Amino acid sequence: CGIVGYIGTLDTKEILLKGLEKLEYRGYDSAGIAVQNDEGIHVFKEKGRIADLRKAVDDNVLGHTGIGHTRWATHGAPSHVNAHPHQSTSGRFTIVHNGVIENYLQIKREYLQDVNFKSDTDTEIIVQLIEKLVNDGNLVEEAFRQALKLLKGSYAIALLDTENDETIFVAKNKSPLLVGLGEDFNVVASDAMAMLQVTDQYVELMDKETVIVTKEKVTIKNLDGEVVTRDPYTAELDA
Ligand code: GLU
Repeated sequence: CGIVGYIGTLDTKEILLKGLEKLEYRGYDSAGIAVQNDEGIHVFKEKGRIADLRKAVDDNVLGHTGIGHTRWATHGAPSHVNAHPHQSTSGRFTIVHNGVIENYLQIKREYLQDVNFKSDTDTEIIVQLIEKLVNDGNLVEEAFRQALKLLKGSYAIALLDTENDETIFVAKNKSPLLVGLGEDFNVVASDAMAMLQVTDQYVELMDKETVIVTKEKVTIKNLDGEVVTRDPYTAELDA
């Protein structure tokens, strides 16, 4: 299983699909992508192979921002509805997640009683919790960190907001995740292999860090919102 994300000027869906193909070796039972453009966020997902996902993706959808996922089901059977990306009730937020949220039932009970869940995954509580915290009046970045503080378990997360098409919100705890740097674009991936097609410059993330990724910039912050600085390294692998 793995995640990928891209923000830049190239054909996002193609970069995401190629990235997911490179992650196939990690094993998965379903896969999906979300591509964002001026009209909104377009989600495609399929049970089965990346080749099946490829067939399901609309060739005409162009976007400059996107996230992708290969799923190894832990909560909820492998199926179309349980495949990632998952969206909040209003459709504003879209998420991909690798890992396991151990306290998802408790979070559902304590904060999300009124929510009509669409999937059986632990993942959906994250995106619904972020939406709730935003509806309560928090800025998205703040809601993202607050939600993460409530989670117990492992995660590599990438989140899109329909009301902000210039940012991918990323976070990691006990699941692998790297940020890849480019000129006029940036990427995220579970494994450098997934994005060697576009860059060999990477920044490592530590547990409980978040990253605000735009086309021009990546900003790492801890869960208290303090900026963390870290130098990139060159990945010496063959694409
Ligand atoms: N726990 C999540 C699910 O079952 C993510 C699994 C994964 O890491 O792919 O949907």
